[in-house]
Amino acid sequence: MLPSTSNYLLKNACVPLCLIETQSIALNADTIATRQTRDGLCMVDLEIATGAIAQITPAGTELSSSKGDIPVIDWRGGLVFPCFVDMHTHLDKAHAWERSPNPDGTFSSAIETVGADAQKNWNADDVYRRMEFGLKCSYAHGTKAIRTHIDSGGEQANISLAVFEELRAEWGDRLILQAVSLVSLDYLLTPAGEKLADKMAEIGGIFGGVAYVNPDLDQQLDRVFSLAKERGLNLDFHTDENDDPESVTLREIAKTAIRHQFAGQIICGHCCSLAVQPPELVTETLILVKEANIGIVTLPMCNLYLQDRQSGRTPRWRGVTLVHELKAAGIPIAIASDNCRDPFYGFGDHDVLEVFNMAVRIAHLDMPYGDWPSAVTKTPADLMGLPNLGRIAVGLPADLILFKARNFSELLSRSQRDRTVLWQGIEIDTTLPDYRELDDLLVT
Ligand SMILES: [Zn+2]
Repeated sequence: MLPSTSNYLLKNACVPLCLIETQSIALNADTIATRQTRDGLCMVDLEIATGAIAQITPAGTELSSSKGDIPVIDWRGGLVFPCFVDMHTHLDKAHAWERSPNPDGTFSSAIETVGADAQKNWNADDVYRRMEFGLKCSYAHGTKAIRTHIDSGGEQANISLAVFEELRAEWGDRLILQAVSLVSLDYLLTPAGEKLADKMAEIGGIFGGVAYVNPDLDQQLDRVFSLAKERGLNLDFHTDENDDPESVTLREIAKTAIRHQFAGQIICGHCCSLAVQPPELVTETLILVKEANIGIVTLPMCNLYLQDRQSGRTPRWRGVTLVHELKAAGIPIAIASDNCRDPFYGFGDHDVLEVFNMAVRIAHLDMPYGDWPSAVTKTPADLMGLPNLGRIAVGLPADLILFKARNFSELLSRSQRDRTVLWQGIEIDTTLPDYRELDDLLVT
């Protein structure tokens, strides 16, 4: 369908205005803005030259029609997104469902089942093949950068982080991969915790862990911030993934960050309990989070699955954090996929469009859509320190996803499995890996 050249004009591409860097638009940026639909979409022509975006012009204007000598593709109003950025995943746990299903769908069973699965099965070959399967899915769906948490207690850290490094090198020409260490924070008070910090610095990773309310939380947080500061590491935490109003680790992390005058990037994922806390406490927490310059990642599919689950009782709560309130407070918020076909989430395919689709339904991101498409593109790219990703701008590679859907209703009503993914302007093979590839690993 597309020319096998990286020089052409992609006409009549419908792009969310929030994903175009307006300073790079030829003509007046206002011309495009005034033409946007009520969903914040606008029609542009994209000139692609040697795989990069050479020009963005309002559709059908003189500037674009003057390009007589290059092939023209008319996308007929179909949506065009920059490639996705999935900033919170667990590739080391993924695709083990058949051998280690969650027996009752609860959080505690997920922890227990994953622990047993790791103990029994997580050798280098097993971790490599399941992680690679996830990368193949992500790539085929149009993702360009992925951050994965890696269970890093004891010897497992050496096995899984070595696999991560191997895959990061092998996939380096197609995907940008980041790893975060994942242990509960008490681990960091031990000498092994210090070694782990060294290891994450050595591999260019991010330091992190799960924060639980406990009598030693202050000491644990001081330790994690000190270890990170000494090594210049960024931080990424799992916080308050529960419905207990007393769970305030997000607030405590913000306070610690401020006290330490921490200059690195801090991310907190989940923050579910914020949604069940009294309004005064929420206000206080949001002020602290803003002051500490913390970015938040919400994981709506996993939250919907695990939160408010009790056998025989219908769930009342969708499980997500206060995404609208966080955004209104000026706090950057990203949406990501989290677990995939493992005991924490029995479904998923590393498709960020599905994540966005579910997030729109779960958290009401559609009235209006506003700049919510940024939450799976531009915002996570910025939070991951990748300012050239997740946006459409002159001079950036034409790493794009082209949908036949022309508006959000069409986009979010079908799977869009027939999307076209461009890597530097050239169409990639979007065939998904066959589940059968992993069959021999899943025999119990
Ligand atoms: Zn997670």
